[in-house]
Amino acid sequence: MPATMDGYIRVSRVSGRTGESYISPKVQREKITGWTKLHDITLGQIVVEEDVSGAKPIDERELGKLLKRVESGASEGIVAFKLSRFGRGALETLQAVERIRNVGGRLVTVEDGVDSAKPGGRLLLTVLAGLAEEELEQRRSGWAAARRQALERGVHVGPTPVGYRRRGDGRLEEDPLAAPFIAAAFRRRAEGESWGAIARFLEQNNALPLARKGRKSVAWSRSGVKSVICNRVYRGELRDGDELVCENAHQPLLSEGEWKLAQLGGIGPLYVKDGSIAAQGLLTSLVFCAACGHRLSLTGSTAKNGERVANYFCRIHHAGSGDCPEPAVASTRTLDPHVQGLLLEALADPASKLVKAHEVGARIAETAEPMKQAEAELDTFLATELASVLGPDRYRAEVERRQDAVRTALREFDDAMRANLILGQEKSRTPKQLVTDWPTLTMDEKRAVVRAYVDRVIVAKADPKRRRWQPISERVEVCWTGQPG
Ligand SMILES: [Zn+2]
Repeated sequence: MPATMDGYIRVSRVSGRTGESYISPKVQREKITGWTKLHDITLGQIVVEEDVSGAKPIDERELGKLLKRVESGASEGIVAFKLSRFGRGALETLQAVERIRNVGGRLVTVEDGVDSAKPGGRLLLTVLAGLAEEELEQRRSGWAAARRQALERGVHVGPTPVGYRRRGDGRLEEDPLAAPFIAAAFRRRAEGESWGAIARFLEQNNALPLARKGRKSVAWSRSGVKSVICNRVYRGELRDGDELVCENAHQPLLSEGEWKLAQLGGIGPLYVKDGSIAAQGLLTSLVFCAACGHRLSLTGSTAKNGERVANYFCRIHHAGSGDCPEPAVASTRTLDPHVQGLLLEALADPASKLVKAHEVGARIAETAEPMKQAEAELDTFLATELASVLGPDRYRAEVERRQDAVRTALREFDDAMRANLILGQEKSRTPKQLVTDWPTLTMDEKRAVVRAYVDRVIVAKADPKRRRWQPISERVEVCWTGQPG
């Protein structure tokens, strides 16, 4: 009775099919059946694996089943076209061969003349398996080098990130339809919006994730949104793993401050989780308590008519400096229009001493330095690993304090950057135009303008005897940027 052997056919990745090493399954099959006929062997099963890398462990492939058939005695060996079809890892290939030999089986690869049953077959196997592995290594390093060169030329490698489109030369450019929404997604994250809410926002605005395997995606996953928010490609960078290869490879969609704030995800005292409340504050992070000097927080409360309103308030208890003797509170509904009115008045005044738009650039430099310092201090503290010395509570408090400092510095840097975008652009508005355009500005744009001109707003506690009737102007002082006092 003739021996039975199984046939194994592997076709490597589809994208490699035009290459010289591509041998069609039909050719492989013909060679295998031809050899079995010639040697009077019955062909058992033929397994064809497509689009499977030879580097994948044999037991995870269809080939593993054929090995088990040899081990169980269902077949007496395996016939393949070439050893490189059998496996690319030299060690693994040889281990598989050992498995076959251990049970008295036989491995034949027709094209390169390997027959483990023949004298010298084992040596040839070892040599060929080594060559197969080397060839794979070369192909890999060739790919890595090509990828690297592309990155150095500023060409993005991989699927085009949402928010960009591909230019003729392979570099990225802004996709005018999706880019504004991707940038907005970062700002929403910076304000503490959840991944799910950002996903819905992107979907509603038709900024959809990449199509996969020919299917157009219509929905964002949380992890998909996360991978966008942590991707440095949106800062114009190209990276090889963690390593920065090309800066300014293409137009960034957002500022460094915006990117960093998004990484912090809006956790912290400067932000209110409820986006609708935070969005109401024109002066967020600019308002300070007259009594204790601390920055006022923003929180929501429900008015008598059921509407949600936002208030600036002193937190009273301040770590390290005791309790505030006269904690200030002010509603966004009275304080914001008051400061806005003062600002518009000053802008409309030709003799105004307000800081000019071009001076905003200086503010960016001024705010960048404290940001770097705060970041360096946090990094240094984390690197010293003092947790065991300080104890967990104290350590956490110290880390949080430094994180807050980073957030505050980032916020100020980001304000300067935004002010620069709005005031420093080519067609930047004159103060007079700003007054005219004011009603058409978005809340973000108004904030940026306010931050360009207002350094801080100091609020005192309302007189308890006349709370409702006391004009806000009596207890508010506006400090303009670049002016003493
Ligand atoms: Zn206070």
